[in-house]
Parts: sequence; C-alpha cells; structure tokens
Amino acid sequence: MSALDDWRTDLRRWLDDHVPAWWQEEFAATPYEVPERRFDEIRAWQRTLFDAGYMGLTLPRAYGGQGLSAEHELIRAEEMVRASAPPIANQVGVKQCVPALLEYGTEEQKRRFLPGILSADEIWCQGYSEPGAGSDLASLQTRAVLDGDDYVVNGTKIWTTYGTHADWIFALVRTDPEARKQAGIGFLLIDMKSPGIEVAPIVNITTDVDFCQVFFEDVRVPAAHMVGRPTQGWEVANHVLAHERGANLAMLRFGDFLDQIAERARITHRAGRSLADDPSFRQRFAQCRIEFEVLKQQVLQSVEEVRTGRKAGPASSLLKLQMSEYDQRLSRLANEAQGLAAQHWLDDGIDRGIWQWRELWSRAYTIFGGSSEIQRNIIAERILGLPRTGKGRK
Ligand SMILES: Cc1cc2nc3c(=O)[nH]c(=O)nc-3n(C[C@H](O)[C@H](O)[C@H](O)COP(=O)(O)OP(=O)(O)OC[C@H]3O[C@@H](n4cnc5c(N)ncnc54)[C@H](O)[C@@H]3O)c2cc1C
Repeated sequence: MSALDDWRTDLRRWLDDHVPAWWQEEFAATPYEVPERRFDEIRAWQRTLFDAGYMGLTLPRAYGGQGLSAEHELIRAEEMVRASAPPIANQVGVKQCVPALLEYGTEEQKRRFLPGILSADEIWCQGYSEPGAGSDLASLQTRAVLDGDDYVVNGTKIWTTYGTHADWIFALVRTDPEARKQAGIGFLLIDMKSPGIEVAPIVNITTDVDFCQVFFEDVRVPAAHMVGRPTQGWEVANHVLAHERGANLAMLRFGDFLDQIAERARITHRAGRSLADDPSFRQRFAQCRIEFEVLKQQVLQSVEEVRTGRKAGPASSLLKLQMSEYDQRLSRLANEAQGLAAQHWLDDGIDRGIWQWRELWSRAYTIFGGSSEIQRNIIAERILGLPRTGKGRK
C-alpha cells in the first residue's frame, strides 16, 4: 500500500470513530448546509477535525495547515462524503477568505488570520451585498476613508450569512469614490466586535436565522487589514467568487439520496399503486439519475483540473448553475416521494422533515454567489463569447 492509501485508511477509521451520532440521526441528508440551530456543535466538529490534523491540508504549517498534497485534499473530500460527515462551520472563511489571503494577503496577514479560520476559533462572514448592490455589486456604497493609520467605515451590508456568529467580516468597501465603479473598491478585514458595528438578524424561509444586516457607523479598522492594494478589492472579490462557485464533492452524496428516494417511492402509494410504478414519477426519477451521473463527471473533472493547478475561472459558473438548479429538482422529487407526509415540518416529518427543509433552503443556492441569471450571463459572455448585454455580479 502507498503512503496515500495508508493516510486514507487512517482517516476512514478516524471518521468512523468521530462523526457525531446526532448528525447521522438528524442531518445526514444535508451535504453542505450548516443548520443554524446546530451551529455551535458544527463549530466544535471543525475544531475536532483541526486538532486531528484534517484541516488546511495543502496549506503550509506556518499558517496552521498540514503541508500535504492536493491528493490528500481529494481523499479527504471523498472520505468525508463516504462517512456522511457534517460540513464545517467556517465555510465562508475556508472557501473564500483563505483563497483571498493566500493570493493577495501579506505574510503578516496570513500568519495572523489563517490558523484561526482553519480551527474555527474565528468565524468569518462575507460583506459584499448591500441593499442597493446585489447582482450589480460594483454599485456598493459602504465607504472606507483613511484617517491616520485607520480606515473609518460607514455604511451597511445585507444578507450576511453567519453574521450573528462571525468574529470577523471581509468586506468590500469604497475607497475611492472618484474612480470608475470597479476600480475604487478595497477588500477590508473588519473585527465584528469593533465599536460602531450593529448586527440585525433576518429570519429566512426555513425559519432559521442564517443571515443578517450589518450596520457600520464610524468603525475604525487598522489600515494593515486591507488585503491587496486599497483599490484592488474587485480583483480579490472575483478571485474569491470563482472559489465560492467551484466544484463541491459533497454533491456525490446525491447518489445516495437518489437511492433513498427510490426506496421511499416504493412504499408511498398514489391512486392505488406504488409511486415507483407511476410512469410520470419514474420518468422524472430517471431524468434526475441521468443528470446526477453527468454532474458527477463534471465535478470530478473540475476537481482534477484544480488539482493539476488550473485556476478557477468562468467555468465555475457552469457548475454553480447546474448544481444549484439540480439540487432544487432533487429536493422536489424527494418530497414528492413522501406523498401526503411531505406536508409535515421538521420533527413531525419523515426523516425529521429534512427534505422539506432542504427544498426551501435550496432556493438560496440559485441566488447567493451570483443568481442563476447572472451565471447565464457569464456563460454567454465569457465562455460562449456572445455580445455583452447588461450588468451583474461577475
Ligand atoms: C441564503 C443567502 C445567503 C447570502 N449570503 C450572503 C453573504 O454572506 N454575503 C453577501 O454579501 N451576500 C449574501 N447573499 C446575497 C446574494 O449574493 C445576493 O442576494 C445576490 O447577489 C442577488 O442580489 P440581490 O438579492 O440584490 O438581487 P438583485 O440583484 O436585485 O436581483 C433581483 C433579480 O433580478 C435578476 N437580475 C439582476 N441583474 C440581472 C441581469 N443583469 N441580468 C439578468 N437578471 C438580472 C436577478 O437574477 C434576480 O432574479 C446571500 C443571499 C442569500 C439568498
């Protein structure tokens, strides 16, 4: 056996011993969502992973990582899927702030912030959207004005996921109001405990309090917390967005979900016969199965390309679009397979109502990180080379 095989065996054993039992019982059908009501436990789970040496595999040890290879990262992702392990709590930090810091951060910023992101000691949120700037993100108005060694920040951010849990926010701020829209933006790291910050939670469609509005009034932020040049924020943000939209191996679990849906359809009856014998249901099920096999190949190909050093680019929009829209169809099918029982909510429902919850939550995927319409614009313009038609978060 190779050293990689040994590493996989150890990890598999470790996961068998450590994946929390409550997760398996309550949330095994949520491959990447962090259920708000269990946020603290998921945070502890990430800490457990970190302590065991299973976070930041490819990052240098000086930054809290393990200095291992991309192959280790791939094995970890595969084994996490196999074990139906929970996601990590600091997803925004790991998937977005880490790539930003690695590419654009100073050595001091990397050493200061990366270990806390990996260990979940410091939870991060993303401050991009504003009430007047969503798809057209470059219209953002939150100002950062240099005053001595500090920036003074005023404005508001909205739809800030994990804003109530976050210790830090990476925010896009306008540093030069005279410059062209995209050219006058900075990428600033702000301590959420700073005086002048107020966080107002927003209840979402699943009744969870996932996101919030953050208000900044004369918030002082050390200038040393600017990532990249003060007017390089748009470039940093686009680098981050490509990572946010990239391949997610957790979708491989959709294969198990399809098996579960088939199982449920066999015991659900409609019009006197098993749903599994209903031609219309069978057709939609088969379509979902086919699409899963296609998506799986695309995800694996994308992971391989990233592993071999290709930078995440506009092609990540294709995956984001397909995965997010597929997720909605799959959740719909899962609820249909429950028949009338699909009307029950959470603890009253089959599998603790997780599919009802997922069907509502899956609306979010087609909105955050750039809506489906914006992804289609990107695909049209940047991949197909069609003429440019409008604005949008790109
Ligand atoms: C669950 C969830 C979590 C989120 N978390 C965060 C977060 O942590 N941090 C953060 O900064 N933001 C977050 N967002 C915000 C998200 O990025 C924005 O909602 C998204 O970019 C869309 O912006 P908007 O809501 O202002 O809609 P708008 O931009 O007003 O769009 C409204 C509608 O018009 C369509 N549209 C807009 N422009 C075009 C165009 N040029 N061509 C075609 N159609 C267009 C859109 O597709 C959409 O259907 C989150 C959103 C959700 C739903």
